[in-house]
Amino acid sequence: MEGERRLSNDYDLITIGGGSGGLAAAQRAAEYGRKVAVIERGPLGGTCVNVGCVPEKIMWEAAGLAHTAEYARDYGFAAEDATHDWLALKEKRDAYIQRLNGIYATNLDRRNIDCISGTAVLQDAHTVSVDGKTVTADDIIIATGGMPIVPDIPGAGLGMTSDGFFEMKQRPQRIAIVGSGYIAVELAGMLRALGSEVSVFVRYDSVLRSFDELMQACVVEALESDGIELHRYAVPKSLAAEDGGLFLGTQNLHRHGPFDALIWAIGRAPLSHDIGLEAAGVGCNRQGFVVTDKYQRTTVDNIYAIGDVTGRVALTPVAIAAGRRLSDRIYGGMVDRHLNCENVPSVVFTHPPLGTCGLTERQARDTFGDDIKVYVSEFVPLFNSMTRHRLKSRMKLITAGAEEKVVGIHLFGLGSDEMLQGFAVAMLMGATKKDFDDTVAIHPTSAEELVTMR
Ligand code: NDP
Repeated sequence: MEGERRLSNDYDLITIGGGSGGLAAAQRAAEYGRKVAVIERGPLGGTCVNVGCVPEKIMWEAAGLAHTAEYARDYGFAAEDATHDWLALKEKRDAYIQRLNGIYATNLDRRNIDCISGTAVLQDAHTVSVDGKTVTADDIIIATGGMPIVPDIPGAGLGMTSDGFFEMKQRPQRIAIVGSGYIAVELAGMLRALGSEVSVFVRYDSVLRSFDELMQACVVEALESDGIELHRYAVPKSLAAEDGGLFLGTQNLHRHGPFDALIWAIGRAPLSHDIGLEAAGVGCNRQGFVVTDKYQRTTVDNIYAIGDVTGRVALTPVAIAAGRRLSDRIYGGMVDRHLNCENVPSVVFTHPPLGTCGLTERQARDTFGDDIKVYVSEFVPLFNSMTRHRLKSRMKLITAGAEEKVVGIHLFGLGSDEMLQGFAVAMLMGATKKDFDDTVAIHPTSAEELVTMR
């Protein structure tokens, strides 16, 4: 049976990868009294802590302060143009992350989890080699995460990825960002707010194309009104360093530049090569994502995979939830415990932020046909009504069926990031439009719009 001690291995569980998912699974297993090791070749915390959510949110906060400084004048402050010390913030941010790395190590220690430093390669279904030494476990969780994709075009190496962004000691003045997803729009907004001239290159005519169309339009409007140049239908073909900077070639022989730096933000690939999947018999798909079922089981009985390496929703809290539920199931006796990836709320840290949970209008129509209702609200938040920059907030609520169950919430505007979590709980509980209508509004807030839509 899963989770039962079967062999005389070194450990009950080894997680390969000490990022959000691996650490969560390991700690939960240890709480059930299991003997656990985490193998990690880099600093603990993985992408999220070291080169993802945490440093990115710090930069988003800095950019938010730049916007606030601008708005301060409209509120009667005699604010002078604030200058920003990029290097000072980077050093402070790095120090904070180092502290977090230490806290993660202490947390493992406290639970008697061994932290093995090095690169893990599966030798068979129970054996892992780490830089020449071998360790064995009854169960293994692959939680190796992913890495940014660099396109296979001439000169691509002259650009950097989000990893390189966090190493920059100086803010580039002229920057190109290629891509249309979370990272592209987040970095674009933040760099612009801190003073860079930003050009974003997208392959089609929009950004965040998997999001609700209203949200896409909101982000495009916000980027452009902040002075970011959006180049549509720009498929990257080459990158060259010439006098004066970097030049990006796109299809139809268009040449853009010069830029001081270019960031590839075109998605992430799983870190699944060279970890011995074949030796252990673990199957992956054509893109290299480890194939798992809803219980995180791979094609090998005692090997599981969680997080970005599985190609499911690539978000830290998803990896954490999957890891904890997996350990609950195999060591905590919760036989059907697993993560349902429907209604996962997520926020894109643009300025202002975007929050989304559930189906887009298009997905709702595909699922329920005409049996949906769409409520939209558009307003200038009170905060902005005092400022020259009167960017509107927009909200969309989508309901399905006669009982009007809420199946989609999409928010763009100040406070959306903090607003969404509670509404996601309501959605998870099956809230209907009537439940929203019956909830007394909090005034004056942006959130009240969600319970007063008609
Ligand atoms: P995304 O998957 O969000 O977006 C990348 C987009 O780039 C693609 O959807 C595609 O859009 C475009 N693209 C793909 N290939 C090319 C190419 N060759 N040339 C030009 N454009 C291309 O990836 P990101 O790298 O932005 O982020 C990776 C993951 O990290 C995200 O999926 C997200 O889950 C996570 N993340 C989450 C954050 C958050 O929660 N706030 C913040 C940052 C990252 P199109 O088809 O439109 O061209």
